[in-house]
Amino acid sequence: MRRKIAAGNWKMNGTAAALNELETLAQMMPEAAPEVVICPPAPLLFRAVDAAPEGIAIGAQDCHMQAKGAFTGDISAEMIADTGAGFVIVGHSERRDAHEETNSDIRAKTRCAWGSGLTAIVCIGESGDDRAANNTLDIIGGQLAGSLPDGADGANTVIAYEPIWAIGTGKVPTLEQIIEVHDFIRARLITRFGAEIGDAIALLYGGSVKPDNAEVIFRAENVDGALVGGASLKAADFAPIIAAL
Ligand code: 13P
Repeated sequence: MRRKIAAGNWKMNGTAAALNELETLAQMMPEAAPEVVICPPAPLLFRAVDAAPEGIAIGAQDCHMQAKGAFTGDISAEMIADTGAGFVIVGHSERRDAHEETNSDIRAKTRCAWGSGLTAIVCIGESGDDRAANNTLDIIGGQLAGSLPDGADGANTVIAYEPIWAIGTGKVPTLEQIIEVHDFIRARLITRFGAEIGDAIALLYGGSVKPDNAEVIFRAENVDGALVGGASLKAADFAPIIAAL
């Protein structure tokens, strides 16, 4: 059985007061909930870990690609683990874009995450232009091969497929498109890591997941959960997505 994960990426939203949502979310969650992870902004990590009720894990949104050193303003995987967080998102398209992160940077970040005992949520996804040019699977295959180090397994790694054109736009791929990409990722993982490990790595879909579309998205066999942006900020929106998983 693969793990099922509902992860919320708060991006650059929320101050300490937002952590009240964690308790509200816990109260609204179904009893047999999947793994739930909230990734608040870095300054909130310590407090988030303290505030998180049972059943809610905490993650960071990025880590540096080196263990430590003269990198003003950056945050290492070890520092994240030190807060008590268990996850870190790496390679989000907003970081690939605004911070020019490359596949090899993300591979190094993933290694750092593993080195500090964190589960890496490795993000990949095509642009609208890539999709229009029929390059989606080429792009996804290249990002997957380039961003994932050897040694990935179901415990240390989660893959999030987030088509860039679906993030924050309200546009969602058709179920067929989601199935095509997730099946492709699964096949690539099995080819590279073997059937046992390739089958054990959870695949999340991300991009405009909302309470009213989650149930359909989760019908896909190789969708093991979601990475949710806007709809993870309020417990009232995130709870029904968790319940649909
Ligand atoms: P939205 O759910 O707001 O589209 O964001 C998705 C995302 O980028 C999560 O990492």
